[in-house]
Amino acid sequence: MTHIPHDLSHVQSRDKAEILAQALPYIRQFHGKTMVIKYGGNAMTDPALQQAFAEDVVMLKLVGINPVVVHGGGPQIEGLLKRLGKQGQFIQGMRVTDAETMEVVEWVLAGEVQQDIVGMINRAGGKAVGLTGRDGGLIKAQKLKLIDQQDPTLEHDIGQVGDIVSIDPSVVKSLEEAGFIPVVSPIGFGEQGESYNINADVVAARLATVLRAEKLLLLTNIRGVLDKAGELLTNLSAVEVDALIADGTISGGMIPKIAGALEAAHSGCNSVHIIDGRVPHAMLLEILSDEAYGTMIRSH
Ligand code: ADP
Ligand code: MG
Repeated sequence: MTHIPHDLSHVQSRDKAEILAQALPYIRQFHGKTMVIKYGGNAMTDPALQQAFAEDVVMLKLVGINPVVVHGGGPQIEGLLKRLGKQGQFIQGMRVTDAETMEVVEWVLAGEVQQDIVGMINRAGGKAVGLTGRDGGLIKAQKLKLIDQQDPTLEHDIGQVGDIVSIDPSVVKSLEEAGFIPVVSPIGFGEQGESYNINADVVAARLATVLRAEKLLLLTNIRGVLDKAGELLTNLSAVEVDALIADGTISGGMIPKIAGALEAAHSGCNSVHIIDGRVPHAMLLEILSDEAYGTMIRSH
């Protein structure tokens, strides 16, 4: 991977100094705090954005913040299933995960994607460690019960898609304290040791709750939550979210994302943001500057 430097020659020195000085109160406020970052969407597939993401994570760690990364990988899973000649099937937006698909999910997430991210962060000067839910008993899961949207007496069998039973964050805390950056693949494990595929936004949100994180940042492939006219909604409460889901404005992958965001906001995570992963360094700007990006989710 080649390093593509961002051209800052057009920025006046005074403005550069201004931006750097602005970061100080935020660094002071967030020193020693945990921030959970869901890494997904385009930010995961574009090399320049990957590099910027890895640099941001390392920067946060170096100023004393504890980033915990949870990654997705839908497009990468889709890619390998296609190469194996397997057709993905979805029910109510959830991937039907038979035993063979689960093997692919595990290879791709815990093998390829996780290790790529770990490598990127390490090359940027950090010390990242990859984990799945199995490591240190991090994520216990069970089979998700998917109730039919139209007929609540009907239940769909979508295979090894998981629902989180509990999270034991001790392995993440130990790594944090020892100076490492945990990178978590969204795979949970059942009582018999069986694997479950879990939505990464759901894992990030629950981890933020359990870790009592200062912030939950969900990086995605869109500006934030949009209204029916395509305008960015900069601020949303639970009541507003309910209405947007009921009238169909929020759909697809945005549903588990916003549900997770609300859960974290309700359970004491100080600030929850859905931000545009396509903007280089959007995460750094959100945390360390006066700029506001994307959609902030409020608990009330
Ligand atoms: P990620 O990889 O970030 O989890 P997803 O595809 O799962 O991405 O979820 C983000 C997608 O949700 C957006 O790209 C968009 O297509 C969809 N979406 C549905 N409703 C909305 C909405 N109201 N505002 C923004 N995006 C929405
Ligand atoms: Mg998603």
